[in-house]
Amino acid sequence: MSAILGFDFGGTKLAAGIVDSDSGAVLASLRAPTPAGGAATGMQRMIELGQQLCAQHDAPITAVGVSFGGPVEADGRTVRLSMHIPGWESYPLAQTCEAAFGVPSRIANDADAAALAEYRFGAGYGCTHMLYLTVSTGIGGGVIINGRLHRGEHAWAGEVGHMILKPDGPACACGGNGCLESLSSGLSIARDARADIPAALRDRDPASISARDVVAAARAGDPTAMRIWEHAVGWMGIGISSACNLINPGIVVLGGGLTGAGDFLFGPLRDIMAYRVLGKATQLKAAALGDVVGIIGGAALCID
Ligand SMILES: [Zn+2]
Repeated sequence: MSAILGFDFGGTKLAAGIVDSDSGAVLASLRAPTPAGGAATGMQRMIELGQQLCAQHDAPITAVGVSFGGPVEADGRTVRLSMHIPGWESYPLAQTCEAAFGVPSRIANDADAAALAEYRFGAGYGCTHMLYLTVSTGIGGGVIINGRLHRGEHAWAGEVGHMILKPDGPACACGGNGCLESLSSGLSIARDARADIPAALRDRDPASISARDVVAAARAGDPTAMRIWEHAVGWMGIGISSACNLINPGIVVLGGGLTGAGDFLFGPLRDIMAYRVLGKATQLKAAALGDVVGIIGGAALCID
């Protein structure tokens, strides 16, 4: 066993943990709010947290990995930009970690890191090819091929949320139209509910309506909420099935806030997959690692 320092650098929170490379167990962890300000401030806070953790831990760390909330260059070392905070453009994050901690470092965007964590230590354990989706306000994804994270030629692979399903569909955050994210994400569900407010939510300020409210109203039998939910889940099933037919994963792991809907989400998705996925052998599982997935994912980047 070796101890790896894993960081989860998100838009609102920053977490660091010491991870056992054999079991994926988080041996110790610390959390802090993500500091406002650019890379210099964020980096300083990361180094402080990491040093604090290392001081508490007996065994020396062998590597530092970072799950970062934004796209990362294909070299696995350089941040392209932060999705939340300006000032991270083209930042040499792995190099800076190596200088600060004196061990090798790897980085990846948060969905890729989560995919690798679930593959090695979570719901994807035991298969060879895996697809990971995280469905919250947006939809992120990661692809494992032959047991390795598949980043693609320019590190854009696994962007399941931007598979184009309905070219004349709603505008997407990427600038296109009709991507899966524009049809099935938490934001798209809330948008649809504001455009056609379910009776159960009419006494609410429309701006405050969330996907969670729509799920609750649909569960309670509100016909408009049910239609909005079924529309979103239907497109999600089509998107997942199409991705399965491209890469034939053994397991699809689904994480993110929307999975709180449980069987209300997984049941219809499995029905669609049973109909649409070639071979019908791909399993759909809920993500298993919870809110330490980013820490474990950062560390998992440094194994092998
Ligand atoms: Zn898009």
